[in-house]
Amino acid sequence: MKIVVATHNEGKLVEIRRILEEDLGEAAATIELVSAGSLHLPDPVETGVTFQENALLKARDVASRTGLPAVADDSGLIVDVMGNAPGILSARWAGAHGHDKANNALLLAQIEDIPDGKRTGRFRCAAALVVPDVEAGADVTGGTSGAAAGTTMVQARYSIKSETVEVGEMPGVIIRKPRGEHGFGYDPLFVPDDQPGRTSAEPDYEGEPLTSAEMTPDEKNAISHRGKALKALVPAIEALL
Ligand code: IMP
Repeated sequence: MKIVVATHNEGKLVEIRRILEEDLGEAAATIELVSAGSLHLPDPVETGVTFQENALLKARDVASRTGLPAVADDSGLIVDVMGNAPGILSARWAGAHGHDKANNALLLAQIEDIPDGKRTGRFRCAAALVVPDVEAGADVTGGTSGAAAGTTMVQARYSIKSETVEVGEMPGVIIRKPRGEHGFGYDPLFVPDDQPGRTSAEPDYEGEPLTSAEMTPDEKNAISHRGKALKALVPAIEALL
């Protein structure tokens, strides 16, 4: 079965495949993940006001263009003292979309006077699965080549059969100076409560706790908001097999 992932980042497919293999074992081999980027599908405008709305909007767009089940996620950073900002505006907090350095600098300046014990927050991720209802006789052109033109043409032929949204969070604190080279976005400023191999229930860390940019990708994926949301989506994906 083919599932389209609403992303232009092939790395996201690797993460989803790993989660599917962990949870579904051999059955995962029957799932072929294809990125929206490889199908040359456009990114829809994210008009939602919650992570859930934006994840659904992206998955619906891909499902309706391809006639195939679609997975999408939307995530961001929520800082308690900022009344849940930057939230859905995380990627463009300092203005330009995806300007991580400027976003981090602005965030640090905004909470400069906030004492260490109150710099709490969380990453939140919503992951959505949208399954289209393909009308009898519809021309399914969701293949990996030449799909873009064809899929746009058949857009109106699909209605939505089912929608599932799951949310995952990674709580932690915002530190004062960036640390670490891995990850992206706010990772160098964020120390997750859960640390590799340990949990917040056992806060007896040796040495200084790591930022999510100091963790390996596997270490971060095991505790991340995105990992949790995608894992929670697996039963809905399994139901399609
Ligand atoms: P996206 O929805 O996954 O593209 O995330 C939107 C924005 O939220 C990113 O551009 C980052 O600024 C921030 N963000 C989301 N997830 C993470 C993460 O795991 N680490 C650091 N920043 C993140």
